[in-house]
Amino acid sequence: MEGILFVMSGPSGAGKTTIVKGALRELEDVEFSVSYTTRPKRENEVDGRDYFFVTKAEFEELRKKGEFLEWQEVHGHLYGTSKNYVKSKMKSGVNVLLDIDVKGAMSVKKQIKEAVFIFVAPPSFKELKERLIKRHTEGKEDLEKRIEDAKYELSMISEFDYLIVNHDVDQSIKQLESIIIAEQIKVSRRGEFVGKYKFYKSVARKEERT
Ligand code: 5GP
Repeated sequence: MEGILFVMSGPSGAGKTTIVKGALRELEDVEFSVSYTTRPKRENEVDGRDYFFVTKAEFEELRKKGEFLEWQEVHGHLYGTSKNYVKSKMKSGVNVLLDIDVKGAMSVKKQIKEAVFIFVAPPSFKELKERLIKRHTEGKEDLEKRIEDAKYELSMISEFDYLIVNHDVDQSIKQLESIIIAEQIKVSRRGEFVGKYKFYKSVARKEERT
């Protein structure tokens, strides 16, 4: 059976990355797809774990070679998802989790209809602003861009399958875990198991008639 693709989106500062990391610690059957980016590395980040940090020229080279499932300019930097990683993992039955922006998610939706789209929202716009200011990871200009971009992202919630409103990180992690578990046991994804018992349908019908 093919692995399931989970796509997490939502405004910067909503807590997506923390929720993703928390859920991945608990779940063994999902792998995180590490994106490529031209954004400068933050102090606590590790190349190859958080992102593959590349120059604009390297990014352009990868893009030309068709290495990206999707790519976008987000808050003034380039970000891209590795097509090869996602496709090969899914093919070998591994579930994959992406943490990408809303435009990237919409691009994936056009290509992989069976993917599961999850939006992480802050409890309010005011709280989002406060969180972004408090975390001190961006300069003033970058910060303002992220706040401005959040308006568009929040306007796109209705395009998603699930909404996690991040009031409490532990609860949000549990909600993400529940989505991932529930999606795996959907009847529509259990063709092999369901198929084994299709034969009994005619027997059951006969019994119904008598
Ligand atoms: P940050 O710079 O805060 O790590 O990420 C900024 C935004 O870029 C976040 O919304 C994040 O989800 C998004 N992002 C990260 N990787 C990718 C990617 O490969 N593609 C797209 N479209 N967005 C990404």
